[in-house]
Amino acid sequence: MALKGVVIDAGHGGTDGGASGNGIVEKNMTLDISKAMYDEFKRLGIPVYMTRTTDETLSPSERTRRILNAFGSDKDVVVISNHINAGGGNGAEVIYALRNDEKLSSKILNELAKEGQTIRKYYQKRGTTNSNKDYYFIHRDTPNTEAVIVEYGFLDTKADADRLKKNYKNYALAVVEAVLDYKGIVPEQTDYYTVKAGDTLYGIARKFGTTVDKLKKLNNLSSNNLAIGQKLLVTDELQEEGVYTVQKGDTLYSIAKKYNTTVDKLMMMNNLSTNMLSVGQKLVIPESVGLNTYIVKSGDTLYSIARMNNTTVSAIKIANNLTSDILSIGQELIIPS
Ligand SMILES: [Zn+2]
Repeated sequence: MALKGVVIDAGHGGTDGGASGNGIVEKNMTLDISKAMYDEFKRLGIPVYMTRTTDETLSPSERTRRILNAFGSDKDVVVISNHINAGGGNGAEVIYALRNDEKLSSKILNELAKEGQTIRKYYQKRGTTNSNKDYYFIHRDTPNTEAVIVEYGFLDTKADADRLKKNYKNYALAVVEAVLDYKGIVPEQTDYYTVKAGDTLYGIARKFGTTVDKLKKLNNLSSNNLAIGQKLLVTDELQEEGVYTVQKGDTLYSIAKKYNTTVDKLMMMNNLSTNMLSVGQKLVIPESVGLNTYIVKSGDTLYSIARMNNTTVSAIKIANNLTSDILSIGQELIIPS
């Protein structure tokens, strides 16, 4: 399932404030949620667009025009319209279009539940005069797209309002997570790199194992000019390549063979206690000889790492200028070959 782009719609805006209560104005919170969501999709390198980025009044027709303009009226476009509920109730709900199924909505609610939000339901709403059409224009007038309205909670219910104020950013990220999961996207490891004097796009691309073209695309750069201090999104493709998603019929043995490693190493790297794999499970693949670094995991010792990599503790210490045996989780070690 491809993902052409994500349109984030901050509900209401300008003269249309939406609901308000308990210190929340709907149009402001939907904008804050939308911005957090936008930043995260951007960080992940996923094409994303916001219908409004300021406190702007948008008519329904202008809103739908912007939605359809962003990436076209395509089934591989996800539209997320953010709202805060009112009218007495508890928790989050998602309304999806008559043309879509419930899968994305269900995932969104699951992810919101993980962030501690109460879950109400997902549902479709049919028009009152024409029951063959969607009730909400955001579904009705955005044909082919996968459009959902997310109501994060009830601002007129004190407990919901308190949770919203505290957690809205996490709720935004939870929705991003649901979209990634729904589309089967494994996020690349992304990070920011700050441009230093003398840097070139080519040099930076090389450093991060990527290409100038990809860097330009990821950062929406139209030229090769860089400014000192400029922050660039970079992806570490080496890390991406080191993750394998289990397919139907795979065994640890077949995967080990494929990647020129051993079942033992795979089990150790992934903290597996059995040989059982499930389809879709992500496995870290021990890096091959060319990419000889290792990221320290919980429970690792220099001795276990040395053994796993067929080397010695002292060789690792020399290669990494280590003066003690103490490791920290997440530390990157050069593994001498
Ligand atoms: Zn609303």
